[in-house]
Amino acid sequence: MESTGYEEISLSSLSSSDYSQLEELVTFLIEEFKGKGVNISLPSLRIDAFSLDVMGKVQDIKKSSLTFAPEAGSQRLRDVINKGLTKEVILEGAGMAFEGGWNKVKLYFMLGLPTETEEDMRAIPELANDIAVRYYEIPKDQRNGKCQITISTSFFVPKPFTPFQWARMYPPEDYIGRAKIVNDAVKEQLNRKSIKYNWHEADVTVLEGVLARGDRKVGQVLLKVYEKGGIFDAWSEFFDYQRWLDAFEECGVDMDFYTMRERPLDEIFPWDFIDTGVTKEFLKREWQTAMGETVTPNCRMKCSGCGAARFKTGVCVADRN
Ligand code: SF4
Repeated sequence: MESTGYEEISLSSLSSSDYSQLEELVTFLIEEFKGKGVNISLPSLRIDAFSLDVMGKVQDIKKSSLTFAPEAGSQRLRDVINKGLTKEVILEGAGMAFEGGWNKVKLYFMLGLPTETEEDMRAIPELANDIAVRYYEIPKDQRNGKCQITISTSFFVPKPFTPFQWARMYPPEDYIGRAKIVNDAVKEQLNRKSIKYNWHEADVTVLEGVLARGDRKVGQVLLKVYEKGGIFDAWSEFFDYQRWLDAFEECGVDMDFYTMRERPLDEIFPWDFIDTGVTKEFLKREWQTAMGETVTPNCRMKCSGCGAARFKTGVCVADRN
């Protein structure tokens, strides 16, 4: 911190509260940086009495927001992606936080997940509305002004070494259509004034999809984009989608080959030679259970034999140590 001048330490992880020494770490950070103008931020905590207590210590309750990442609006789709978070848990957590003085909530979702239906998309603003309803159940004199719920959606990008590495993606217009369904459904909610909606760019998503599961042929395209002047494309003012389309065309590489097809189970992937411990057979099984909308239990409750233990890693080994 002394050398860089940074003003914030963010403990970013999908599940910070799984870290058993969190309380000690946070207490240490608060002590260490007290009065030095350094903010400690703790996103995406599971909301329970303990995490609210920790967050209350590091955040200005009036200014900060709670973050939930339900990823999908409906329970059915959350089961498909094996996200063990229920609406009841979200509402209970939000309720506890509201009673503790928070009034801002951020919700992160993905659109375009395998098997997604219109009902799943509409469930996103419905969940936001239910959270707002929970807020307004608190007597007026005990509330911290109006509640503000921000929904952010990004479009799903299948990644290697995950059960969705076989999944297809959708064309940019289709993604925008999905975001529009959510946007329209936000306007139908009773508490629409409390709900804000942001979504991610669709063109960038499709490119991310090609880069995530591309093979060596995509290497030529990357070089071509660079030769055409492409640099810092993650900054929107530098991003030029047409330049990418031209580069794919000139190299004779078809983007849709990487994104638009559901891949057959016996397809050999460019990354298959990398051994992460987790077996392709396990991922295949998980892909099929996801399509059957069945939840795989958390490792701490039941081992599903993913293969990670072979490298002496994974929850099973960590818990034994
Ligand atoms: S307990 Fe270990 S081997 Fe079993 S599924 Fe979890 S990480 Fe994999």
